[in-house]
Amino acid sequence: MTSIRVLDGLNTVGGTKIYVEEFGTGVFLDFGMNFELHGRYYDEFLRERVTRGVHDLLKLGLIPEFNIYRKDLIPADVHIHEYQSLPVGAVFITHAHLDHCGYAGLLRGDVPLIASPTTLTIMKTMRDTGKSDITIEALYYKVRSAAGDNPRVLCAPKKAVFTTRAVVPTEPPAPCHKEFWKVLPGGGEMEEFWRLENPLPFEWEAHPVDHSIYGATAYILWTETPIAYTGDMRTQGKNGDLTWAFAKRARSASVLIVEGTRAGDERETVSEREVEERCRAVVEEADGLVIADFGARNFERLETFRDIAARAGRRLVVTEKDIYAMDALGIDLRGVAVYRELRGREDRWVRDVRSRFRHIMVDPLEIRANPSAYVLAFSYYDMKNLLDIDVRGGDYIYSATEPFNEEMYLDIKKLVEWIRLFELRLHGLVVEGGDIKAERGWHASGHISPEDLVRFVEIADPDVIIPVHTKNREWFREMFGERVREGFGA
Ligand SMILES: [Zn+2]
Repeated sequence: MTSIRVLDGLNTVGGTKIYVEEFGTGVFLDFGMNFELHGRYYDEFLRERVTRGVHDLLKLGLIPEFNIYRKDLIPADVHIHEYQSLPVGAVFITHAHLDHCGYAGLLRGDVPLIASPTTLTIMKTMRDTGKSDITIEALYYKVRSAAGDNPRVLCAPKKAVFTTRAVVPTEPPAPCHKEFWKVLPGGGEMEEFWRLENPLPFEWEAHPVDHSIYGATAYILWTETPIAYTGDMRTQGKNGDLTWAFAKRARSASVLIVEGTRAGDERETVSEREVEERCRAVVEEADGLVIADFGARNFERLETFRDIAARAGRRLVVTEKDIYAMDALGIDLRGVAVYRELRGREDRWVRDVRSRFRHIMVDPLEIRANPSAYVLAFSYYDMKNLLDIDVRGGDYIYSATEPFNEEMYLDIKKLVEWIRLFELRLHGLVVEGGDIKAERGWHASGHISPEDLVRFVEIADPDVIIPVHTKNREWFREMFGERVREGFGA
């Protein structure tokens, strides 16, 4: 008998952790970080202590209280055996946004991770270029142990070798993926950690869908009661057709677990194409520096700006982190340049990037000398670099998500100060008095519109609908009545 429990992410956008069990086998569908709950206690300067393993996360209710976590993350004062143990045969990851994959690395080391080759590649770039942080440890990590004589504090010896988690790509990886997965930044190799055999006693299918990050995948599990899970999806991007193809395939499932980020959102839907046209017009008219600000790892938008820049006779300048990921993903780098940030100590991956992309690195002084030759892919966190480029005037295109919490709003306020300081014309944000709002049309959401969501459900025609990733369950009730549930068979 199949049972489905949504352990987190039922009434929040993100933090999705869905547990499916049947005949003694269990799997997770996503194991993400709940930003809303996380943000209630933490900010940039106060974070979970890595040295306390799962202790802080359990205490704050950020991860479910079960005996399912890595042994080396259990400090002596967490009595993990008092929690119920759950069988976990695998964790299916839909895409590489942290609210879906951020805590997957906490799961027992023998739990294989199933994801698309693109998602695995993006997760590895985050690990390779990130600071030591448990939210990016899913693919490889150093085993921690009690530090000195205090068993409540966990540390990894500096010289320890990396341990890898088994991963199951949803399709055979290309040679470039395999090559990239085994390499450690700065040299060295890991043992091959991917395999293609199904680790589960039932069959499943992976279907690519459209979302604001490449590699997004929906799943169908052929459990006794077949389940379709959308992950995050939309129809208004370049790959919108994939989402509709999945809707048709999902007809063969009885239970549909569906994202509802925009349930009941009555605002008009903006497509990637409309965003492209608007941004293109600005770049074509511009005669000075142009800055394009869009979300991290939104590679579709990045490719759009690369092409807009090229057609306007400019080069898109990306950060060192961006080029590391673009290269790993096999994105066409023609017409792309890399910003040489004035850094002190260089991490290994930075040294790698600087030697491999020596021929396309640009110095801030080169940009100062000829600002109209470039479009800079920068966001708030890169504003410090404007002090080195030091030119006045130009255009700033805000093509990112509207601030939806206090922290983001404060960042936006500071961003506007930078824009004023450098006398840039602002597009995509409206400043009225003390209030700042995103202007519609400069950003396309990563999530399906309510109208298309209704159509999607009509095509998939499930017996049971479990909405997740939503603040508006009421809307689902109104639209789909009695079929809407919070779980199944549990
Ligand atoms: Zn997402």
